Amino acid sequence: MNAVIQCLSNTAPLVEYVLSCNFETSENRDKGQVTVTFADLLAKMRFEEKQFVSPEAFLTAFGYIHPPFRRRDQQDAHEFLIYTLDSLHEELVTMGKASRRKALVAQGSSSNCTDSNLSESSIITRLLQGVLRHEIVCLKCGSTREKKEVFNVLSLPIPSGNQPSIQECLQSYFEQVTLTWTEKMFCSFCKRKQDTAKEVCIIKPPRIIIFHFKRFEYQRNIKRKLRANITFPLKNLDLSPFFSPSEEKHPQYNLYAVVNHYGDVEYGHYTAYCKNTATKQWHAYDDMKCSEIAEAAVQTSSAYILFYTNQAFGLTKTFTSSS
Ligand SMILES: [Zn+2]
Repeated sequence: MNAVIQCLSNTAPLVEYVLSCNFETSENRDKGQVTVTFADLLAKMRFEEKQFVSPEAFLTAFGYIHPPFRRRDQQDAHEFLIYTLDSLHEELVTMGKASRRKALVAQGSSSNCTDSNLSESSIITRLLQGVLRHEIVCLKCGSTREKKEVFNVLSLPIPSGNQPSIQECLQSYFEQVTLTWTEKMFCSFCKRKQDTAKEVCIIKPPRIIIFHFKRFEYQRNIKRKLRANITFPLKNLDLSPFFSPSEEKHPQYNLYAVVNHYGDVEYGHYTAYCKNTATKQWHAYDDMKCSEIAEAAVQTSSAYILFYTNQAFGLTKTFTSSS
C-alpha cells in the first residue's frame, strides 16, 4: 500500500489540489476521513524533512470504510488503488456539495475547492477519468449499438510470448472480438441472441492514464502469477491507434510512476519507482527506504501498475494550506 501512496504523492496536480483545500471545518472532517487523512499525509511528506512518514492515520481511516483492508498484509495494490481513488472522489464530491450549500447560505463566499456547475466531478475525475466506447454489432442483421464506460485504471491482459510490449497488451485489450456460442448477445431487432462483434475505443483520453497488468490469473482454480517481462516506453507512449477515429488530438504519454510486484501470489512485496517533478530524477521507494535510480533501471519484469501523463507536471508552487 505504501507503493501506491508513493505513486499518488508523486502525482503533482493531485497533491497540489489536495494541499490547497482547506479541510479544517468539522463537518468536512466527518464526511471525508479518507481525504482529510490523505491530505495530512501528503502535507507531512512534503513539509517534514523525515525520509519516512507513517501512513498509519490514513490507513486506519481507509480500513474503517473498507473493512477488508484492515488486515494490512497481502492486499492487492491494484484493488487498493481503485478503492482509494473511489473514496477520494466520493468524499470530495460530498464535501464540495456541503461547502457549496454553506457558501450559498453565507451568500457570496466561495472556495476554490468547489465547482458550482460540475457537482459530480472531482479532481480525480478531472485528472484520471477517461471514457471508452463499446460498439456492439449484431452479425445477423447488422444493427449497431453503443455503450459508454468511464474508467480510472485500464487492466491490460498479457499476451503470451517472452517479452510482450505494452502496445501488444493494448492491442489485445482493444482488439475486436466476436462473441459466439454461449457468449452470443441479445439483439433487440432480431429479438434473440445472435453472434455479435464487439469493439472498444477511447473517446475521451484522460490527462493521466493508469495501466494495470493482469499478472494474476486463475488456472484450474489455482491463482498464479504471470512473470512476462513487458517492455514499455518511458517517453512518448502513443495511444492514437486506440482512439476513436473522430478524436482529433493524439496526445503522447510520458511515464512518471510505477508500482512493482516481487515474489509470488502468496508472498509478494511491492515497491514504487517515481520521477520527481522538480529534479526529474527517478527514485526507488521500498517501504522506509528511498534511493535514486537510473532511468534505464525503471523498466523491469516486476512492473505491475504504470502511471503516465500527457502533460508535463508544472513545477510545484510553495504550498500553503490556505492559498
Ligand atoms: Zn440483430
